[in-house]
Amino acid sequence: VQNIAEIVPGVFWVKGTLGSNIYIRMTNGGRPIVIDGGFPSDFFKIKKVLDRDLLSRPVLAVATHYHLDHVGSLYELKRRYGLKIAAHQEDANVIEGKEAFEIYKLDPFRRIYYTALSPFLFQYKHTHVELKISGVKSFLPGGELLAIHIPGHTIGSIALLDCENGILFSGDSVRNEKGRIEGPPPQFSTDSALARRALRERLIDVDFNILLPGHGEPIVKDAKKAFAGRFLRGEG
Ligand SMILES: [Zn+2]
Ligand SMILES: [Zn+2]
Repeated sequence: VQNIAEIVPGVFWVKGTLGSNIYIRMTNGGRPIVIDGGFPSDFFKIKKVLDRDLLSRPVLAVATHYHLDHVGSLYELKRRYGLKIAAHQEDANVIEGKEAFEIYKLDPFRRIYYTALSPFLFQYKHTHVELKISGVKSFLPGGELLAIHIPGHTIGSIALLDCENGILFSGDSVRNEKGRIEGPPPQFSTDSALARRALRERLIDVDFNILLPGHGEPIVKDAKKAFAGRFLRGEG
C-alpha cells in the first residue's frame, strides 16, 4: 500500500501528510500507538491506515511537542478511537488550550508562514492530555517507549526511544530535510542553543540505529553515527 511504509516490522510511516511526519508503532500486544498527529486534515490519512491496514484500535497518541503541525489531528483521533493523549507536562497546557502558543510572538517570517497555513490552523481543536510526561527520561505505559525530554524547540519537546527496535523518534529536535541532519529551526524554536545542549547531553549515551524525524526523510541505518557527527562533535 503506497501511503504507508513499514520501517521495521510493526513500525509504520504514514506518508503524504501535510503537517509533521506521522508514525505508528504497534505495541507488543498488537495495538497501534500514533506518534505525532500532523495538521487537522491529516486525520483522514491516519484513519485510512488504521482502519484499512492495521485494523486495530489505537490506544495512545503521543505528541512530541505542541506545535500545530504535530497535534492537529489529536482531537479527532480521540473522538473516533477513544485513545489517550500523551505529551510532556511542559507542553500539555498549550495542547489543552490553557496557555497560548508562544509562536504567535510573530516576526515577519512567521506571520507569512502562519497566514499561508491559516486555513488549516483554524480547524484545530484543543484536547485534554490524559498522560502528562515528566522527568528527563521516563517510560510510557507498557515500558516499550522511553520519553526523553529535549527542551529547546519547545520547552516540553520530547524524543521517543524504541529500545527494542533501536529507533529514535526525534520530533522537531532533529530534522533530516534535503539530506541534511539538523537541529530544530531557530525561527520556530523557544531556545535552539538549549535544544542543541539537551541533544548532546541527553542522547550521548542513547543507542539507536534508525532515526525517524518530525520532518524530512527517515534515516534507516547508522543513524547514531550521523547524529553524533552533527551534534556530539564540533560546534553542532
Ligand atoms: Zn514540526
Ligand atoms: Zn515544531
